[in-house]
Amino acid sequence: MRRVYSKGREEDYTVTVDWNLGNACNFKCTYCHPWFKSGTNRFPDINKAKLLVNRIAEKHHESNRLVRFSFVGGEPTLYRHLPSLCRHIKESAWYQVSISTNASASLEYWTDLMPWIDIVSITHHEGKADFQHTKAVVELLRGQFKTVHVAFAMMPHTFDASMARMEELRALGVSAYPQPLYEDHALRKRLMPYTKAQRAILFPNEASDMVIETDKGTREMPSSDHMIYKKMNSFTGMRCGIGVDQIVIDQDGTIRGGWCRVGGALGNVHDGDFEIPTEAIVCTKETCNNPMDLAVPKWRDDPDF
Ligand code: SF4
Repeated sequence: MRRVYSKGREEDYTVTVDWNLGNACNFKCTYCHPWFKSGTNRFPDINKAKLLVNRIAEKHHESNRLVRFSFVGGEPTLYRHLPSLCRHIKESAWYQVSISTNASASLEYWTDLMPWIDIVSITHHEGKADFQHTKAVVELLRGQFKTVHVAFAMMPHTFDASMARMEELRALGVSAYPQPLYEDHALRKRLMPYTKAQRAILFPNEASDMVIETDKGTREMPSSDHMIYKKMNSFTGMRCGIGVDQIVIDQDGTIRGGWCRVGGALGNVHDGDFEIPTEAIVCTKETCNNPMDLAVPKWRDDPDF
């Protein structure tokens, strides 16, 4: 393997700040690890959070790279300062703000947040979410030209119901896709017991996002989940752009380059300070399992490899 990158990440251009705003969630889905729903971590102090944005803005002021702040959780809309933080980012520079959400917040909430966000990635959890409300949020956001994606968390026993709802959104022109679930979903390990037909829907052979270059040529893969499923997610010894192309902030405020934790901690939001690396690290992990980490460019220094 010579080089791996995600076209969706606009290689060499977009820097992603993947920010986990605590582990409080109002849904508490069975397949979600307690790490992401127990509510044990405090939300960041708004002034410290804005300080972190300022540090990142200083660092990238001259670089001409687009910075995308991507808020995940838990459920990030439960952080009461989220609108203020998003507004601070949008007023600091030409940055993108993306929210990953279950969309359960009220339409009034989304109307107020809308000026300060660009991309909304909704995950629909069948049996937990009110689909008509999700649909109304999607229509509201699209009406204001926001980019909206809807992932359907596919449980094997509600697979058909989720597919029907997904088709309903697709008929309206919404970007909607099925998301595979794992028994250990946090680590993307042990795929749920899907039937063969369900697996064919979850892992279609359509090229789209991830690109892999090897000595045999270039191959496009549909998604990071597909790469994990096909066991094409080992990059031990390769250079990886975490820290340079991506910063992640864990639910306890720890700042790192990647969710894999390679390269160690860079600081903590609650302390209000951190160091941004300037050099790509060498991967020491056996497998790369987080979709955000997988999308970061990876390469070998030796062009003849
Ligand atoms: S496991 Fe970490 S260091 Fe290794 S390729 Fe993935 S993101 Fe990069």
